[in-house]
Amino acid sequence: MRVGFIGLGHMGGPMCARVAGGGFEVSAFDLRPEAVEAAVAAGAAPAASAAECAATADVLVTMLPAPPHVEDVLLGTGGALAALPDGALAIDMSTSSPALGRRIAEAAALCGIAFVDAPVADALKASQGDLHIFVGGEPADVARARPVLETMGRPERVVHVGPQGAGYTVKLLVNLQWFVHAAAAAEALAIGARAGIELRTLYTVLAAGPARSSFLENEALEVLEAGEYGERFPLGLVTKDLNMALELAHEMGIPADVSARTHELYGRVLEHYGAGAGEMAVVRHYEDIAGAPLRFGAPDGG
Ligand code: NAD
Repeated sequence: MRVGFIGLGHMGGPMCARVAGGGFEVSAFDLRPEAVEAAVAAGAAPAASAAECAATADVLVTMLPAPPHVEDVLLGTGGALAALPDGALAIDMSTSSPALGRRIAEAAALCGIAFVDAPVADALKASQGDLHIFVGGEPADVARARPVLETMGRPERVVHVGPQGAGYTVKLLVNLQWFVHAAAAAEALAIGARAGIELRTLYTVLAAGPARSSFLENEALEVLEAGEYGERFPLGLVTKDLNMALELAHEMGIPADVSARTHELYGRVLEHYGAGAGEMAVVRHYEDIAGAPLRFGAPDGG
């Protein structure tokens, strides 16, 4: 099976390498030549454009920053969808919007192309092929996508969550929950520390309490123990995802008060620290307000 892979950034680079290492004949394209070179080193063949990448593919994978890039690459002039051979399958793994997903699905159907959305979580596990993948699409198309998806995530982590667009929806909600949890935990830690509660004691109680979260158990420790703010997921992508989650809530008629405040908060954090700062700049924001870093002292309290 021939696979075209477009978008070879932080995520797409290692994901494309997994597909190439999984026995597929891969053609790879990115606007950045150095990203294409890295894909070639991992076993892919270089393509000179999105359309060239798609022209011989049975399956096309896209992993692009945001909806405008996805729209441009798949539906734009010289777009990849129209270049795919009749009967091919397109899989968009970007975090994008269900609304754009619907338009892609309609355009794909007109060209005789099957389409599934399959965004991912657990970025750190991309190079190990252990991503959590949320797939939206017709069962037969999802079954067809599985051999490629399972080079990037173990079978039990490739979850068929519903019809076309459902993957995007689930991914936006997964991220929404994480951003809300991170902001709430940073706020609670800053308030508690200012109130004079010893930070390790406060953390231990929160992390074992009824509102414990993956953020508290994992990422928060990077800041509290080592002063590292995890520059993995840029604030520009955080606010993009929160914006799409809010649009989705609006479309569903659900007043999303918590999400809206969280979006506002991350917007202020982005303004202050820049779009390239990582997702945990939200903790830095509370530290700056409190006027002191949130750091554990020595284990003996010294
Ligand atoms: P990135 O910016 O590192 O990579 C995007 C790549 O797309 C870049 O190499 C860029 O050159 C390429 N690109 C942009 N426009 C293009 C075009 N028109 N044609 C060809 N290539 C083009 O982004 P990323 O971190 O890899 O994220 C990709 C997607 O995955 C995003 O939707 C993001 O929200 C999602 N995601 C990211 C993470 C993470 O931690 N980074 C985790 C889960 C999901």
